[in-house]
Amino acid sequence: MKTILAIGPHPDDIELGCFGTMSRFKKAGDNVNFLILTKGEGGILEGDRTLESIESAGLIGAKLFFETLPDRFISEGPETISVIEKYVELLKPNAVFIPSGNDTHQDHRATFNAALVGCRPVKEIYAYETPSTSRNFAPNYFVDITDFMELKIKAVKIHNSQGGKGYMADRAVRGLAEYRAFDILLNDKYVEGFDIIKVIK
Ligand SMILES: [Zn+2]
Repeated sequence: MKTILAIGPHPDDIELGCFGTMSRFKKAGDNVNFLILTKGEGGILEGDRTLESIESAGLIGAKLFFETLPDRFISEGPETISVIEKYVELLKPNAVFIPSGNDTHQDHRATFNAALVGCRPVKEIYAYETPSTSRNFAPNYFVDITDFMELKIKAVKIHNSQGGKGYMADRAVRGLAEYRAFDILLNDKYVEGFDIIKVIK
């Protein structure tokens, strides 16, 4: 059994970036953990986005950890690094999934940079894409999530508080996964693409 840690700056990043892959790990019997660095308070006027994360993580029985770094103001420095180090020490993950550094959202870039430091002891690090990932994101690791496509769409949809955003629509989530499949010449499949940051075997 492997221990997997997915890190999201905001409550919906893991669902958008790697929920299908996390579902696969869980189905294989692995220990899947979600760490969300902020409560996403910058993206909502009222309500509690953490409840949405609890519900979507619950779809696959992933363990959920919340931190309270400031939404939109995540630093790439010691504050964030020490939070990530704490969970790396606690969980001793075999693999970590983080947002790509090629991202136009400052919190995503800061999380990437802090995670490179905080995850030094981890042997496998993969970067996922988000709706704000830039054109420079070029995946070189692909996971077939066809069996989990509907579950991923459901998980994204739970984040109702963000529902007005076009990138959360069924067709957008499905379309990206289909595009990534075409990227590697797979027809009638859905795929999540990652950038391998480090793999030590
Ligand atoms: Zn985000």
